[in-house]
Amino acid sequence: MSETTETIFSKIIRREIPANIVYEDDLALAFKDIHPQAPVHILVIPKQPIPKLADATPDDATLLGHLLLTVKRVAEEAGLQDGYRVVINTGNDGGQTVYHLHLHILGGRQMAWPPG
Ligand code: 5GP
Repeated sequence: MSETTETIFSKIIRREIPANIVYEDDLALAFKDIHPQAPVHILVIPKQPIPKLADATPDDATLLGHLLLTVKRVAEEAGLQDGYRVVINTGNDGGQTVYHLHLHILGGRQMAWPPG
């Protein structure tokens, strides 16, 4: 998939396509994944469209920290008190398909290791 700053996630941020949004603030949005891989599968994204983690710069440090704290908050609100997995697929070898940075929250079942 090509890397552009405009993705389906930009359309979700602008409410141009529907999504099951579970959290929003000035910097971040969290919504349920359309093809869940676990009983709970939520994506946390920055509203600023950084294509992938490898494109982040030191200027993004505060935003990246905010995204992790948003993961913690959303996971708590989703009832994942027994734990969960956080995944950032990055680039082709990382299996990234949508080039708008996103953190997967996966929970509600025991995760296996290593991932495929
Ligand atoms: P990646 O493979 O890039 O790490 O993850 C992209 C994720 O976005 C996939 O888990 C996929 O199911 C999800 N996704 C793709 N398009 C949509 C959409 O239109 N709505 C929602 N809610 N999730 C999507």
